[in-house]
Amino acid sequence: MPDWSAYRGVLVYIEHREGIAKKVGWQLLGQGKRLADKLEVEVMALVIGHNVGQLAEEAITYGADRVFLVDAPELKDYRTYPYSRASMKVIHEVKPEIVLFGATATGRDLAGAIATHLPTGLTADTTELDVEPHPSRLLQASRPAFSEKMMATILCKQYRPQMATARAGVFEALPKDPSRKGEIVQIDFQIQESEIAAKVLDFIQDQSKINLEEAEIIVAGGRGLGGPEPFKMLQELADALGGVVGASRAAVDAGWIKHEHQVGQTGYTVRPKLYFAIGISGAVQHTVGMQNSDLIIAINRDPDAPIFKVAHYGIVGDLFQIVPAITEEVRSRKG
Ligand code: FAD
Repeated sequence: MPDWSAYRGVLVYIEHREGIAKKVGWQLLGQGKRLADKLEVEVMALVIGHNVGQLAEEAITYGADRVFLVDAPELKDYRTYPYSRASMKVIHEVKPEIVLFGATATGRDLAGAIATHLPTGLTADTTELDVEPHPSRLLQASRPAFSEKMMATILCKQYRPQMATARAGVFEALPKDPSRKGEIVQIDFQIQESEIAAKVLDFIQDQSKINLEEAEIIVAGGRGLGGPEPFKMLQELADALGGVVGASRAAVDAGWIKHEHQVGQTGYTVRPKLYFAIGISGAVQHTVGMQNSDLIIAINRDPDAPIFKVAHYGIVGDLFQIVPAITEEVRSRKG
């Protein structure tokens, strides 16, 4: 292997929308710190945008030892060209051995552009990240492969930095600690608006889309619901709790609900504060996507359903009786 001793440290890209960070950035900082500790280096954060100094401060509270802040008016909205140039400037100057991004639409776009230009290797959509210790210091980036039937661990031996995108919800953020100390490094970055082909004219939020990855409460239903109609009952419980509706693949494949609601290996990986698994048996392909939720409540009429092995609370019974009763109770407590 070439001598990569000039490359040290783990850099994590902090994705945000209008200054509000996506959870995946903090989760990756937590995992970045675990990798950095093994390699005995620092974990660093990359914050790009306009008037986003508070995000750099916040990155320190989530574990960053150093934060590289690229702040310019041309960086107000995400656009591939200026963001990839700004990222590459930081990567060239700092020379991290590992760079991590959330496997979001933006993270995938940005990481792909950077990896192509540097050039270096990029493992997309990882679900496990580890490192070999010194001297190889290789990032072991694992992801499902061959139609999700196997896990592949991918190494990048010939290029630096080693890059990966990782799914939201897979890794755990460190607890926010406002007393944590770190350094913020301002990076001078100049770009002319005329150099950037893409112009953002307006930003229109798609209200119809749900955001499972960022949701704090998920009420998920499976084949036990028996059809699309009972999902309305789940929506009522989700509305009463201020959550969103999730689903198993069986429910999605049956056409009862859209794929954007699917939790699991081929859906979203989620880590909400509260996860209801209703009429879901608990197949491993489902549980890998939700087992890290803070609190799991399962409702199933089969007392031997595997979902009860991952649930903190289990209710054995008919969901058609139990769900409306819980909704009623939540509503009455809210007054
Ligand atoms: P079932 O296994 O049929 O379970 C239904 C449950 O409802 C049963 O436990 C039953 O006791 C209960 N029930 C029925 N009626 C009632 C009632 N009235 N009251 C209470 N309980 C009731 N699955 C996913 O979810 N997400 C994925 O991302 C995913 N990816 C996959 C990828 C691959 C490569 C493969 C091979 C499979 C994948 N699967 C995935 C499918 C997975 O293996 C299961 O088939 C699926 O999760 C089962 O969904 P389910 O639990 O809703 O249905």
